[in-house]
Amino acid sequence: VDLTRRLRAVLGGDAQVNDGPSARSLHARDASFHAPVEPDVVVFPAGVDDVCAVLELADALEVPVTPWGMGTSVEGNAIPVRGGISLSLQRMDAILDVDATSRTARVQAGVTRLALQRRVGPEGLCFPVDPGADASLGGMAATNAAGTTTLRYGKMREQVRGLEVVLAGGRRISTGTAAAKTSAGYDLTSLMVGSEGTLGVIVELVVGLHPIEEASASFRFSVPRLAAAGDAAAAIAGLGLPLLRLELMDAWEVRAVTAFTGLHLAPEPLVLGELAGPRPAVEEALAGLEAVVGELGGRKLAIARDRATQTELWRARHDAYFAELDAAPMRASLSTDVCVPLAALGATLAETRRAIDEAELTGGIVAHAGDGNVHVGLMVDPADADDLARARRLVDRLVEAALARGGTCTGEHGVGIGKRAHLALEHGDSVDLMRAIKRAFDPRGILNPGKVLPEEPT
Ligand SMILES: Cc1cc2nc3c(=O)[nH]c(=O)nc-3n(C[C@H](O)[C@H](O)[C@H](O)COP(=O)(O)OP(=O)(O)OC[C@H]3O[C@@H](n4cnc5c(N)ncnc54)[C@H](O)[C@@H]3O)c2cc1C
Repeated sequence: VDLTRRLRAVLGGDAQVNDGPSARSLHARDASFHAPVEPDVVVFPAGVDDVCAVLELADALEVPVTPWGMGTSVEGNAIPVRGGISLSLQRMDAILDVDATSRTARVQAGVTRLALQRRVGPEGLCFPVDPGADASLGGMAATNAAGTTTLRYGKMREQVRGLEVVLAGGRRISTGTAAAKTSAGYDLTSLMVGSEGTLGVIVELVVGLHPIEEASASFRFSVPRLAAAGDAAAAIAGLGLPLLRLELMDAWEVRAVTAFTGLHLAPEPLVLGELAGPRPAVEEALAGLEAVVGELGGRKLAIARDRATQTELWRARHDAYFAELDAAPMRASLSTDVCVPLAALGATLAETRRAIDEAELTGGIVAHAGDGNVHVGLMVDPADADDLARARRLVDRLVEAALARGGTCTGEHGVGIGKRAHLALEHGDSVDLMRAIKRAFDPRGILNPGKVLPEEPT
């Protein structure tokens, strides 16, 4: 109550401060399986001055602040594990400027990717990072989010040119510029992207936009063996085709979506892709693809050219998450991701499937195959400690296998709570430098404590 009163005293009249049970409960969990923890209070700033005031007060009182975008993260990233303030950027949702010539947009952090797309689409432009959920651009930058089009456009880090950030203590800084490139000093923009709210609160972003392609066509084919499907996808990614997406689902996922959607698919691993560019280039690429799919072990190649048929073709992938939930009623989805070099994709997929089965767990694999990013959706009973323990051991095994192949413990979900120990495995020789960076930005450790960096040795 005292914190709420003090927040109200320093904030502008338009800010909202809510310590009621429903606001606290709504900000206690993200889209992960991690245990919920309620904040003491939720603050909805109306503008940058409010964010500065919250961070100044919180620093003085040493109260934790966990930024909140849309709460769709899947590694517990947005859960306020030490209580304190959940700082929601949802009301800071203005699109401040769209520059069609420079192909940039300046937005407040609470703008969602679909809201931006609705604004820039009529100008023939697109914002290409699509993590599935309608996440906020601040949250997407904070997790360095990616999605199905990453093989063409890159992740959030490749889109973000500049940021306005409020640091612990309330100081406001600008990083980067609106220019397409810069070599001016240490790259604080890239440092902030992927920092998961542990270094500062992003209040504004300048992001790059891309022209909408003239034509597109989609395809899918089955491959009887999972390792061969991964190898086929890796080979296609290397053909130099104008690929926009290249995804893969294992047979468990294909069976789940078939049951959920009624689509007629062979119960085998499935590769799905989209080509986009000038129409002649797309047609030429389709012809090239038809020539190689058989050689790569693929069968039942289906091609869709018009938008409606393409949408139908992609339903298998878009409905995968809901099909998983439908296939395992009363269970929660434990989503985890690793990323490996493309040459290791086939072997990683096969080993992942074997590991799920050996652990006697229920779940399937969906991969952003074009960039070697393997996702496992495990359907666990959150009340069953044994189920959860086996799932956690499986995640450890998948991470160790990915690191052994030159990969990473997370391609896009971030470290959050779930991968803290894995960060030490992956970057043990530089975690001390990461801790020094954290101390430089946030000396009292108030920003999203308990995330990203491994536990300090006692
Ligand atoms: C069905 C489904 C599919 C998904 N698929 C993908 C996928 O393919 N690829 C992918 O990358 N992700 C995926 N995700 C995860 C999720 O959408 C991303 O992590 C997203 O980037 C989170 O954005 P958000 O606005 O929901 O942020 P939140 O979940 O609210 O927050 C995420 C993190 O960012 C911090 N944060 C939020 N806003 C700010 C800010 N303004 N300044 C500083 N820190 C901030 C939070 O403290 C937290 O650490 C999926 C999620 C779901 C539910």
